[in-house]
Amino acid sequence: MQFDRVIKGDIVLPEGVLERGYVAIRGETIAAIGQGVAPLADETTDHTGMLILPGLVDGHMHTGSAVGWPGIEGASMSAAAGGVTTCVDMPYDVPRATTDAAIFAEKVGWVNRTSHVDMALYGTITKHDGVDAIPGLAAAGACSFKLSTYEYDATRFPRIDNTTMVAAFREIAKTGLMVAIHNEDQEIVEGAIAAARATGRTDPIMHARTRPPLCETMADLAIFEMALETGAHVHIAHSSLARGLELAEMFRAQGARASGEVCIQYLCMTEDDLVRLQGFGKCNPPFRTAAEVERMWDVLRAGKIAYVSTDHAPWDRVRKEYHGDIFACGAGLTGMQSFAPLMATLLEKRGLPITVMASLCAERPARFHGLWPKKGAIRVGFDADLCVLERGEFTFDEATIQDREGARWSPYHGRAMSARVAATWLRGNCIWDGSVVRARPGTGQFVPRQGGGFFA
Ligand SMILES: [Zn+2]
Repeated sequence: MQFDRVIKGDIVLPEGVLERGYVAIRGETIAAIGQGVAPLADETTDHTGMLILPGLVDGHMHTGSAVGWPGIEGASMSAAAGGVTTCVDMPYDVPRATTDAAIFAEKVGWVNRTSHVDMALYGTITKHDGVDAIPGLAAAGACSFKLSTYEYDATRFPRIDNTTMVAAFREIAKTGLMVAIHNEDQEIVEGAIAAARATGRTDPIMHARTRPPLCETMADLAIFEMALETGAHVHIAHSSLARGLELAEMFRAQGARASGEVCIQYLCMTEDDLVRLQGFGKCNPPFRTAAEVERMWDVLRAGKIAYVSTDHAPWDRVRKEYHGDIFACGAGLTGMQSFAPLMATLLEKRGLPITVMASLCAERPARFHGLWPKKGAIRVGFDADLCVLERGEFTFDEATIQDREGARWSPYHGRAMSARVAATWLRGNCIWDGSVVRARPGTGQFVPRQGGGFFA
């Protein structure tokens, strides 16, 4: 029973940490897990003293919104360096979104040629007449759908009106896939921005003031009512409010398939950070108050969060610079390479075990996106995807970001971290050795949906 490779360290399982354990790999797959004396293997890698987590699964990122599909190459490099072995990429690509099976197949080709980590893909629909494309996208391997109640761009990122949204939910319900919704009420935001501009207020804090909590919770209510009506699994793509998760819980209790995720920035950033970082702290929904961050940790502890994601959006830094008008800055943050160190740091600060990270940043996103049983856990038969964390005192430096030059900025630059990613393994191969990305474009591959969705 010789193995190809054995990796030694403290193995983080959902139920606890297997100290001085090992993961034995045959081919690309985990073949054994144990504790104590490791079995024989052609090669042994010793990470003794370090934490071996499942490779993280980031259920929400944007590679193609900034520079089109060529953006997959750089963003997936930063994923490799960040211990993220599977990304789920959003469909709002430039110049056109992933709205039918042919476009989807074209994107799969880009993933297979250029990605450094494995990647699953969302599908979406066009603003008009797009519902018919839903079965084809599901058949092509889309793991989930994404629609929006808010329009950034009529082609790339359209608002789907309520009539079309209900029809789309009915069609998506037949596929069993999840549909994630960008949840902001357009009228409230546009009205507030117009009022702010009329009084000459375009300074950074106005980004938060013009997207008040009500614009989110009204959208949450609308989509969850439609979930109840249609039977579709409807998911808040990013709740910045604990109330969004409470609403999901309430609708679940009434029989809806409702859920919501939280991006890591809503677990640690506040309006003060928006003022400090200006455009580099602008994302949608915006950072909230310190009290809201506390409430987020309460709902996390209560098990009401589907999973934690990054909403990574590697805009070129010139699009983020503030020149007196916060509304002109691009919305979205980089977060892939800082994801694992930051999550480990936050959990430690909050007195929560590292197993929470294995659950909320790997297993649960894999389950919600139908990538289970293949991705998301250290289990026999699963892909040998591992994130190796070294504990210590580190400082996150944006200059180390592995992406094209313009994307080397981070809202977490200079932040103290209690861990760093010492190595990343993808299907049994080392793709990050702690200082160099060893994956090549195309090392990562498209991952189709494996099984049913979370509620299936
Ligand atoms: Zn997003």
